[in-house]
Amino acid sequence: MFPLLKYSDAEVEAFVANATAGAVRASLAKDRHDWFDLLNLISGAARPFLPEMRRLAQIARRRYYGKTVSVYAPLYIGNTCINSCRYCDFRRQHTGTVRRNLTLDEIRSEAEAIRKTGIDSLLVVAGEDPKVNTVAHLAEVGRMLKSVFSYLALEVAPQAEEGYRELFAAGFEGLTCFQETYDQTLYREMHPAGPKADYDWRLNTQLRAGRAGFRILGCAFLLGLGPWRREAVSLAAHAFYLMKECYEAKVQFAFPRICRTDGGFAPPCEVDDGDLEQMMLAFRIVFPQCCMTVSTREAPAFRDRIVLTAADNMSAGSRVTPGGYAVLEKETSADVAQFTLSDGRPPAEVFAAIRAGGQEVVFKNWDNRI
Ligand code: SF4
Repeated sequence: MFPLLKYSDAEVEAFVANATAGAVRASLAKDRHDWFDLLNLISGAARPFLPEMRRLAQIARRRYYGKTVSVYAPLYIGNTCINSCRYCDFRRQHTGTVRRNLTLDEIRSEAEAIRKTGIDSLLVVAGEDPKVNTVAHLAEVGRMLKSVFSYLALEVAPQAEEGYRELFAAGFEGLTCFQETYDQTLYREMHPAGPKADYDWRLNTQLRAGRAGFRILGCAFLLGLGPWRREAVSLAAHAFYLMKECYEAKVQFAFPRICRTDGGFAPPCEVDDGDLEQMMLAFRIVFPQCCMTVSTREAPAFRDRIVLTAADNMSAGSRVTPGGYAVLEKETSADVAQFTLSDGRPPAEVFAAIRAGGQEVVFKNWDNRI
């Protein structure tokens, strides 16, 4: 559970389990929502209200984002990692992965291949390898990529606030850090060794980045590790906390569903499409102003539908192996991706699907004043 919550697991679970249709109706009727409304809207009692939740989420989404969908691409710059996350085939112990860290020239080639598709927002991703991905190296990558893309975000090992200041100065404005699970016991089980075993250091990542000037703070848990309703309650509490502490930044939600890996990990708590949609609609209604992204882990039909009601942001044409866009001529069978992609459409097809849904594709929605 998010540590600052003053309720126990049992109290929260009882609240969600005992939510009634009347409580759901009352939450849906409100103009401004709080944490208790989120609990009502993710409950089993809210499931028959999905059509009304779609309608209200769409209104909330349009109020803040209009009929637009922002697109981005992830760029994996390296997959060496000193952590031992049980659900990831980039973990240190997994021998079936070809390990690579791209050179600056290779990163530039990858970036140019992405930019040619029209995409102007980039998420730079790397495993946790402090010898390779130092702040100085990441800053150099940022300065180089800033000449290619309008918006840069980072998904790398958590850094100290000072490090984030340097990275922000280098051009990174967004940060993504999945807590994976808010349950401390499960967290210890899933992260038995390496720096990532430190729950609190990871939990406070967005706070340090926000204080350093980052303007988009991405939060998520991995859907499938723990019971989704319990995790969603903590995610919402984390978001309310960040909105207060880092009020100049924007919280961004992601809902990454974890899948079975080649290395043999099977998610202990499956989350189906209905659960995922209910959760995304509930978050859109309760947090209308926050950004929300939908991953390439999801199937095209789900992605095309959810950007009409909840998500305002999606990846397109993603490759999740370092060198996957241009450097590797062809990914070999020994190349292990970080997770399985369900939407393999090229960017142009994703853009066409967004337009077919009556929405506009946005490549850039922000400019620095200087
Ligand atoms: S999830 Fe991230 S930190 Fe964990 S093993 Fe995979 S790449 Fe490393």
